[in-house]
Amino acid sequence: MKFAIQTRNDTLSERLRDEAKGYLSDFGLEYDENEPDIVLSIGGDGTLLHAFHKYIHRLQHTAFVGIHTGHLGFYADWKPLEIEKLVISIARKEYDVIEYPLLEVRINYRTSDEVATYLALNESTVKSPEVTLVMDVELNGEHFERFRGDGLCMSTPSGSTAYNKALGGAIIHPALPAMQLTEMASINNRVFRTVGSPLVLPSHHNCVLTPVNGPDFMVTIDHLQLLHKDVKSIEYKVSGQRVRFARFRPFPFWKRVHDSFIASDE
Ligand code: NAD
Repeated sequence: MKFAIQTRNDTLSERLRDEAKGYLSDFGLEYDENEPDIVLSIGGDGTLLHAFHKYIHRLQHTAFVGIHTGHLGFYADWKPLEIEKLVISIARKEYDVIEYPLLEVRINYRTSDEVATYLALNESTVKSPEVTLVMDVELNGEHFERFRGDGLCMSTPSGSTAYNKALGGAIIHPALPAMQLTEMASINNRVFRTVGSPLVLPSHHNCVLTPVNGPDFMVTIDHLQLLHKDVKSIEYKVSGQRVRFARFRPFPFWKRVHDSFIASDE
């Protein structure tokens, strides 16, 4: 089995990387930065997001596992002290693989037939760089509303505990293949109206955002922020691809929610 390690580049993460690399090599596993079967992410959730995007071209062949060197993360849920146990389980292949849904993002342009496509593990957001964002929101080909405000966020179930949660979205269990649209400070008065509630869409639905003002938008895909010019539309749907996580012990999603937001014994 081949492995790779992604770190946050702080001293503790680097030390743990050397330790894990040494142990795994002693067990006869091969370090392969290009085609790993398993990727250890050492740092935080952000480190795992980076690892996901680095190996996005081989999601079917690579499983991820996260060790946190700061606070408990949603993806980075192993403690540094558990690294030896983790490495032994990897070497003995004593783990299950669980899969979480992803978001597919397609950006169409006014001036070309080019389509930019992305996969998000957490979410994609759309904001206007200068003026209020005005977007027509279409659900399954039908006009739903005209949004005016700071921005819109479409999140995955595993991303529902991230930016989506800060926007008042619901926490969605990642066993549900869904995506969730939340508003960022919508303008609502007698003239302008949006639904005001987060929308949870199933996997066979799609959502298209069409700009009403200004063709340039800041579109985020997880930690990546990209300025897109001359945007004609932005399409969202639940991707047919999934991300794979190696699970070495039960750590149910709701327990992670509890430990992250309510109380943890760490
Ligand atoms: P980062 O690594 O500092 O992450 C920011 C925070 O988000 C960290 O505390 C991290 O643990 C947490 N986080 C990331 N994914 C999570 C998840 N699925 N569930 C619960 N918490 C999660 O910064 P970054 O590398 O730029 O990370 C990008 C992410 O930051 C984005 O995907 C977005 O979800 C999040 N974000 C949140 C807000 C907000 O809450 N207001 C604003 C911008 C971005």
